[in-house]
Amino acid sequence: MNEQSQEFKAEVKELLNLMIHSLYSHKEVFLRELLSNASDAIDKARYAALTDSTVYEKDTDWKIKITVDRENNTLTVSDNGIGMSRSEIIESLGTIAHSGTREFLRQMQDAAAASKEADLIGQFGVGFYSSFMVAEKIRVLSRKAGLPPESAVLWESTGEGNFLVKDAIKEGRGTDVIVYLKEEERKYLQEWEIKGIVKKYSDFIEHPIFLDIEREKPSELDKTKTIKVREEEKINSQKALWLRDKAEITKEEYDEFYRHISHDFSAPHRVIHYKAEGAQEFTALLFIPSVAPLNIFYRDYKIGPMLYVRRVQIMKNCEDLIPEYLRFIKGVVDSSDLPLNVSREILQNNRQVEVIKKSITKKVLETLADMKNNEREEYEKFYRQFGRILKEGIHFDFSRQEQIGDLLLFESINRDAGSYCTLQDYIDSLKEGQEFIYYITAASHQEAVNSPYIEAFKKNGYDVLILTDEIDDILFSGFQFKEKQFKAVLKGDIDLQGEDKKEELKGKYGRLLDFMKEQLKEEVKDVRFSGRLTDSPCCLVYDEGDIDQRLEKLMKAMGRHVGQTKRILEINPSHPIYEAMNSLFEKEGQSDELKSYIKLLFEQALMLDGSKPNNPVELMKTISGLMINNLAVRLKA
Ligand code: ADP
Repeated sequence: MNEQSQEFKAEVKELLNLMIHSLYSHKEVFLRELLSNASDAIDKARYAALTDSTVYEKDTDWKIKITVDRENNTLTVSDNGIGMSRSEIIESLGTIAHSGTREFLRQMQDAAAASKEADLIGQFGVGFYSSFMVAEKIRVLSRKAGLPPESAVLWESTGEGNFLVKDAIKEGRGTDVIVYLKEEERKYLQEWEIKGIVKKYSDFIEHPIFLDIEREKPSELDKTKTIKVREEEKINSQKALWLRDKAEITKEEYDEFYRHISHDFSAPHRVIHYKAEGAQEFTALLFIPSVAPLNIFYRDYKIGPMLYVRRVQIMKNCEDLIPEYLRFIKGVVDSSDLPLNVSREILQNNRQVEVIKKSITKKVLETLADMKNNEREEYEKFYRQFGRILKEGIHFDFSRQEQIGDLLLFESINRDAGSYCTLQDYIDSLKEGQEFIYYITAASHQEAVNSPYIEAFKKNGYDVLILTDEIDDILFSGFQFKEKQFKAVLKGDIDLQGEDKKEELKGKYGRLLDFMKEQLKEEVKDVRFSGRLTDSPCCLVYDEGDIDQRLEKLMKAMGRHVGQTKRILEINPSHPIYEAMNSLFEKEGQSDELKSYIKLLFEQALMLDGSKPNNPVELMKTISGLMINNLAVRLKA
């Protein structure tokens, strides 16, 4: 029988352990997950049958069946879908493929302390393994499509550490999942219970779900007596929600459908449901979620709505239908014009698909604009979840840059943390003669408002946008909105005071400045007067076009080699320290003491922007030396 016992991977054990001891009160979701898997398996088989006719038997009477055995306490979900081979069953039911599930486990551990774990199970939809909430044992009998009956495989486990796999024989193609219910979970054998769950979660699964129903019927032989018969009854309506009339669909139906396709437990922010006619005929039912899925920033996050062609599912995620910066959108697109046997290769660069993508993009952006203008609070909630993704659009979708720019929200130094302005708000409050949209990249609102780099902006009443995501520096350098260029306050020359002032200063401190340049030529690119400081004595800035420190860190973390960028030391000539240094310079010329002060200024500037001093030991010596001098002077007096 070629029997083989195998251990679950560590993370599966962890997940199973959670399931077995789960206190989750809606354990019924296990059936939703099994039906959803059965439906997926049929979609896969049907799609394969469209593209490869040699593999498939004539039988395309797709169906899902639920069978109840009260004597043995089993509930079986069967499908005639794609099935699994031996190696596939070991892979699929022995490991966890999604990084999202691993993330879920991590959250569960965090949540366990706050004893919120129960809710998370339902929110996440943990797939096949959730059946262990109600089962003491599960058997899966599967026969891969195209393989003979003798090459079926039987998988069995009690969910405690390992599973068993052995050869088996199975009549038809597909999979039977046999759930041996725990004594206390026998209610799932009841007809009304099963029907209720299917209605609630799986009514619109497009393949028929049958249940064997026991009925009392008058006996043919003796009409006065009744006999028990088993009859198959279809228990889901199979109605494709997106093809129904909008006016007849309730919010609950939309929400439930969204949950079904997204595995998200919360209701969506917005539903976009429309039928397009003209160049391309299609129906789209799209959702703007309210909560970001746990794995949206992982590589295995699947982008794109489901693609149907005339009610036949072609693909679970069609990434060609949506730009990447709208990858949070979930939903269904059902085309009337694409060919049924369309493959991934055909979809790429397909003109018809392009037309649909364009239409969807337009609709989604319009809906977001509407939310922003009319439901600002809701929009801000959305933005906190997905703004980071949406703004990629200004970089990648040049033709809609301005439209997307209009949807962005920003914190700024003139606003409290957590309160947002739009670019239009910013432009409406420009100072007389202000040419640029100023921004600062910082880890947080607090860091930004405390930054010395914005001193002059604050003093002169300018507002500065605060950009806190690592990618912001790439996205916004060079970005232009309504003909106003973005400009980083950490970079290049900032001049809020005018040229005349500079000339005057050059006359006064010019020689000292040259001496400083000479002293610091290894450390910095240049030393110059600052237009951005009012209180601090000096700071380091990047040249226009240089990559900033946060980006440098990000690139290093991604394993990219980046050379150290030399910065520019800017000095604040209105700080009294320069007056004093200048007097010393005029009196004693290039003294060692003056050299120490210059080094000290540079080290201070480094610390000001969060860098470590270049040479901490040297720095300490210098400071101690200065303290001794100062104390000596004071004690003498
Ligand atoms: P998910 O469905 O989210 O991938 P599951 O844990 O529910 O996660 O299932 C894991 C995998 O097992 C599926 O991706 C699929 O490959 C396989 N599988 C589960 N049920 C079936 C089934 N009825 N028929 C064929 N394959 C299945």
